[in-house]
Amino acid sequence: MMAAVRASECAARVVLLEKNHVPGVKLLMTGKERCNITHFETDIRSFAAVFGKNGKFLLSALSRFGMKETIDFFHKHNLNTKIEQDGRIFPESDRAKDVQALFLRLMKENNVTLLTGCRIKDIPCRQSAIEEIILDTNGVKAEKYLICTGGLSYPQTGSTGDGYSWAKQMGHTIIRPGPALTPVAVKEKWVRELEGLSLNNVRISIYQNNKKQDERLGEALFTGIGMSGPIILDMSKSIGKLLAAGQAELFIDFIPDMDFHALDERILRDLQKYNNRSIKNILSELLPNKLVPVILELAKIDPGGKGSSITKDERKRLRLLSKQFPLTIKNLSGFDKAIITTGGIALKEIDPKTMRSRIINNLYFAGEILDLDGPTGGYNLQVCWSTGYIAGESAVSCI
Ligand SMILES: Cc1cc2nc3c(=O)[nH]c(=O)nc-3n(C[C@H](O)[C@H](O)[C@H](O)COP(=O)(O)OP(=O)(O)OC[C@H]3O[C@@H](n4cnc5c(N)ncnc54)[C@H](O)[C@@H]3O)c2cc1C
Repeated sequence: MMAAVRASECAARVVLLEKNHVPGVKLLMTGKERCNITHFETDIRSFAAVFGKNGKFLLSALSRFGMKETIDFFHKHNLNTKIEQDGRIFPESDRAKDVQALFLRLMKENNVTLLTGCRIKDIPCRQSAIEEIILDTNGVKAEKYLICTGGLSYPQTGSTGDGYSWAKQMGHTIIRPGPALTPVAVKEKWVRELEGLSLNNVRISIYQNNKKQDERLGEALFTGIGMSGPIILDMSKSIGKLLAAGQAELFIDFIPDMDFHALDERILRDLQKYNNRSIKNILSELLPNKLVPVILELAKIDPGGKGSSITKDERKRLRLLSKQFPLTIKNLSGFDKAIITTGGIALKEIDPKTMRSRIINNLYFAGEILDLDGPTGGYNLQVCWSTGYIAGESAVSCI
C-alpha cells in the first residue's frame, strides 16, 4: 500500500492486486490492534543494527525514507502519533484500523486501481523481464511489477508465501523461511491456571546446561500453554537455537527490583505486620493475585495458614519461587503464531537503493518478503514503509 501510494504520487498508473477482500488485514492485528508503526530512534545505523548483519541493506532506504520521514508522512495525512515506553510509536487514536483506512483513502485519492479477491495463476517472464500477470479470467500487463506478498506468518491473514515461489521460479534465491517472534510452549501443564496474566516488569532468563544463555527485562504474558509478550518474542530466536541443541529452561524473576536479601526482609516485615492474615492475602501485596495460589502450591505452603505460622524453609521456597520461577521449554510455536518470518528473498539479489531485482529487470520487492527480521517494537513495519516507499518511487523514476 505504501508503494502503491508513492508510485501513484509520482504520477504512475498503479494497479494493486490483493487476494483478500481488502488489503492490510495483518496490519489490523498489529500492536494488539493498536499498530506499533515504528520505533523512536534518530540514528539509522542503530536502527539497522537490530536486524543483525542484514541490517546494512536497509541503510540506503532508511536514509531516504526513515523513521522521521515515516512519522512526518503520517502527520501530513492527519494521523497523529504518540511515543510510548521503550520508544514504541503508535497512532494517537490507538487504532490500527486508522492506519489501514489512511492507506485506503490515499490509494483512492491517487486513483490506484484496487483489484481484490484476486488469484494470481502465473507470472511468465521472458528475457529477464516479467511479461504479464495472469489471473483466473484475465491478465494485467505493466511496465514495472512489485511483489510484496509478505512472509508465512499468520497465514490466515493472506500471507501464505506465494511470492517466494514466484521469485524462485524467476531465478531468485530464497533463504529458508522460518517462524520468528513466537510464543513458547512449556511442559508444566499448570501454566493454564495463569493464562492471561500480564507481567509488566519481570526479568526472564534462559538457561541451558545450568548456564545462563539470555536474559531480558520487561513485559511478558502467560498463555494457556506457555508464555508470550515482548521479551519472550524477542528471545524466541535464541531459544530456537538452544532447543536445536537440547533442553532449555526459563526462569522468571517476578520482583526484579529487589535482590534476595531485600525480598526476604520485605516478606518478613509483611508477615510480622499482618501476622493474623492468611498467607494468601499477605502475598497478594507483593505478587499478582493470580500467581499467589500457584506459587503457594509449588512452595507447598497452606494458603489459609496465618502469616505467623510460616517456617524459615517455607519462606526460603517462597523467595526462590518469586525470583527464580522455573519452567521447562517444550517448543516454539509455528508460523500460525509467529509475528514475523525469517529468511526470504536473498538481499544480494536486490539493489538496496531502489529495491529492484538484480535478476529480473522490471521487478521490485518490498516488505516482509525480504530476508529481514527485526525484534518487536515497530521495527518490522518500518521495513515495510521504507522499502515500500523506495520501491514505489524508483519503479516510476526508472521507467
Ligand atoms: C499479530 C501480529 C502483530 C504484529 N504487530 C506488529 C507491530 O505492532 N509493529 C510492527 O512493526 N510489526 C508488527 N507485525 C509484523 C508486521 O505486521 C509485518 O511485518 C507486516 O505486516 C508485513 O507487511 P507486508 O506488506 O510485507 O506483508 P503482509 O502484511 O503479510 O501483506 C501481504 C499481502 O499480500 C497479499 N497476498 C499474498 N499472496 C497473494 C497472492 N497470491 N495474490 C494476491 N495477494 C496476495 C496478502 O493477502 C496480504 O494482504 C505484526 C505481525 C503480526 C502477525
